Amino acid sequence: MSTNMTLPYRQPLIPIEPGPRQIPEPPRRGEPGGPPCGICSKEATAAVWSDSNWTLHPPVGGSLPGAVWLASRVHVDSFSDLPEPLASDFGRVAARVERAILSLGDVARVHLYRWGDGGAHFHVWFLPRPLGMLEATGMMLPIWEDVLPNVSDEDLAAAARRVASAM
Ligand SMILES: [Zn+2]
Repeated sequence: MSTNMTLPYRQPLIPIEPGPRQIPEPPRRGEPGGPPCGICSKEATAAVWSDSNWTLHPPVGGSLPGAVWLASRVHVDSFSDLPEPLASDFGRVAARVERAILSLGDVARVHLYRWGDGGAHFHVWFLPRPLGMLEATGMMLPIWEDVLPNVSDEDLAAAARRVASAM
């Protein structure tokens, strides 16, 4: 961990043990036995940008304007499931999203996260790490994102539209 990286909580935090493992794991959205896919059923936020392979969406209930998530048009799960042309195209489109977020200003770096634990439709988060906010380097940014006060969904969507217009 970098020396500046800091949890957004007062110390001391007390380590806990993980609970018992749940195997098999509960089905995720968009996988057999689970709830319907929110992306395919258009329950997710409307795309602010798209091309023939990808759609770009604003978050809801977040604290970092400029955050967006990119989804494949096809319903596949992870990188290893993407058809080869899409896998190749991901680097190109990720670079465009990164450049667009950086153009908002006041952004030190753009973090990418692919968790895959909530929904089974390929999507990657792009989070702007605020310039100078060294506490939020590395894995601390999503935790800070969760703890900082949310901005309105309208502000998140407006920032995502600015990202879209810079694509
Ligand atoms: Zn889907």
